[in-house]
Amino acid sequence: GKFDQMGLKENLLRGIYGYGFVKPSAIQQRAIKPIVKGRDVIAQAQSGTGKTATFSIAILQSVDLNERETQVLVLSPTRELAVQIQKVILALGDCMNVQCHACIGGTNLGEDIRKLDFGQHVVSGTPGRVFDMIRRRNLRTRNIKMLVLDEADEMLNKGFKEQIYDVYRYLPPGTQVVLLSATLPHEMLEMTSKFMTDPIRILV
Ligand code: AMP
Repeated sequence: GKFDQMGLKENLLRGIYGYGFVKPSAIQQRAIKPIVKGRDVIAQAQSGTGKTATFSIAILQSVDLNERETQVLVLSPTRELAVQIQKVILALGDCMNVQCHACIGGTNLGEDIRKLDFGQHVVSGTPGRVFDMIRRRNLRTRNIKMLVLDEADEMLNKGFKEQIYDVYRYLPPGTQVVLLSATLPHEMLEMTSKFMTDPIRILV
């Protein structure tokens, strides 16, 4: 498989090659298409496999740039990871004029609110601050079509379970869920059965 055989937008392909990628990694070959098609996906993958670019490419392919409301929400366990994901999405989307905001704890609330009010196609954040912004209605959820849970096992380890459920309750029914995790403990299977419909499982 190759990136230019995946049916990706021209401007996205330009961003992928501009970032220096030549060939999709194993997880990219298997997961990008089903995510773009709207399937729920459980990917059991460690970091180093190219998992971040997998969902970032699928997000960029799926997002409607003409509609400047949040369409995709990415939750991850640490501020550093949330910012890293934002950077990858902005870099791969360099030719696309995509708005992607990092919504993380420990930053200025006013700045968060200003960025969200401006309109963000994608929000990458930690569960606590994201839920705070949703509850304050600065992050509007009505147009969200996809929820990505990255390093989901780490989020559970960090005690974010309730906050993830809190966020999920605000999403439109039928929101697509993409979950990435190195391990799939029992607690996780409980969450996937609540959030996901007929998920595809990919083990890399
Ligand atoms: P991750 O698994 O998301 O932590 O990514 C691990 C590393 O692989 C990062 O430095 C990525 O930039 C790099 N990477 C991801 N996909 C590709 C690819 N298709 N070709 C080359 N490097 C890649």
